[in-house]
Amino acid sequence: MKVSVLSHTPEPEKTVAAAARLCYSNISASEIMENFTGEKAALFIKKLMDMGHMSPVEHVSFTFAIDGVSRALLAQLTRHRIASYSVQSLRYNNPFREEMAHSSDDEVKKARHKAYKEGFDLASKLCGRQHPCQNELFDKDSIAGYISEKILKDFFPQYLRGIFEGGGILENGPILAISFPESLGAVLNKSPFNFTLEGNKLLMKKEDALNFCLYIYGELDFASRDYSGETLAALCRKSPEFFEAFVKAAENHIDSCCYSTLPESIAKSPEAILTYISGLECCKNSYIELVKMGVEQEDARYILPMGTQTRLVMTMNVRSLYNFFHQRCCRRAQSEIRHLAEMMLAEVKKIAPGLFEKAGAPCETEGFCPEGSFGCGRHPAKRPKV
Ligand SMILES: Cc1cc2nc3c(=O)[nH]c(=O)nc-3n(C[C@H](O)[C@H](O)[C@H](O)COP(=O)(O)OP(=O)(O)OC[C@H]3O[C@@H](n4cnc5c(N)ncnc54)[C@H](O)[C@@H]3O)c2cc1C
Repeated sequence: MKVSVLSHTPEPEKTVAAAARLCYSNISASEIMENFTGEKAALFIKKLMDMGHMSPVEHVSFTFAIDGVSRALLAQLTRHRIASYSVQSLRYNNPFREEMAHSSDDEVKKARHKAYKEGFDLASKLCGRQHPCQNELFDKDSIAGYISEKILKDFFPQYLRGIFEGGGILENGPILAISFPESLGAVLNKSPFNFTLEGNKLLMKKEDALNFCLYIYGELDFASRDYSGETLAALCRKSPEFFEAFVKAAENHIDSCCYSTLPESIAKSPEAILTYISGLECCKNSYIELVKMGVEQEDARYILPMGTQTRLVMTMNVRSLYNFFHQRCCRRAQSEIRHLAEMMLAEVKKIAPGLFEKAGAPCETEGFCPEGSFGCGRHPAKRPKV
């Protein structure tokens, strides 16, 4: 999500101060404006805000450029009626236009899948996990010769991922450690990583194991089936560093390939992320198929999920912004719109700190929570007795 202030009423604090001062003065607002210093205006604004006289702040507006938010957020945002909106349309924009034009990527995907599958099959067979009767087909000392130059040069991470998922073991215990049967040494020695021989297995621990896992899952194509969801989830649980990198990669895929957003609570679980991505891919593929059949974009878009991204321009005056921050900076607000509200508040505070000093969630500004039993518990539910 990106938020910036596109434009705003010039000299916002002086404008509000002049409008408010006019009510008690017998000279024109333009004269008052000329005579106001920044310091004087700030003092006047403070007095005004302390008294809660809000109508003069309606003279100042802010226009925001908001990018990469979901359509679920858009539905919530546009409930705020005292504002103006211009929204990117899915009627005129096909989010997958470029991908539809470049079907040559399919060849690379196929080659990656082939490399993964080759690694997986070799490791499974050598470890007796698959077709145990075929074990003898492999000359264990020359298995490295099975790897083609093409795989070594272009698809080695995918190949090693297959080797890991076909023959590797995620060790039990508190630290991240992975092991392979000794028979896979000839393949693993071709990788830039070092393993130690312990008993009859090749072992890798901590940082080394993390770097190996980051290498083999680094170029993960979430849309393919070139990975085991169970192994990925187990790795995420074992290593917070791996999970962090996994969430970033998933977020990047969701953003750039599915034109969608990753909600906060889904981002907490590897299984939820993979389930979410699988749903997004399904919607995307159906959308592309419908458009290819000649269905109008304005109708094909019905299959797209609420997480689909959009961009918009929104203008609100300061009074409406106060109402917006009051409702949406509160922890009861849904996480994406709360995040947006917090970013917007930070931006406007840089421009007019005095005007927004008292803006935000009611508990932050008033010290108590008006949400009653729905409150998050950070502040008392009732106004404290004075
Ligand atoms: C935590 C949370 C949960 C919510 N859940 C739901 C839900 O389940 N279902 C749902 O439908 N909505 C829900 N909403 C949306 C909410 O009900 C409001 O529609 C939305 O927040 C916009 O608020 P608003 O009307 O104050 O803002 P605006 O429309 O910007 O109005 C600003 C202010 O102008 C005044 N005003 C505007 N229009 C009128 C009018 N016609 N008559 C009189 N005064 C007016 C009011 O004082 C109003 O507060 C939720 C909002 C939050 C923050």
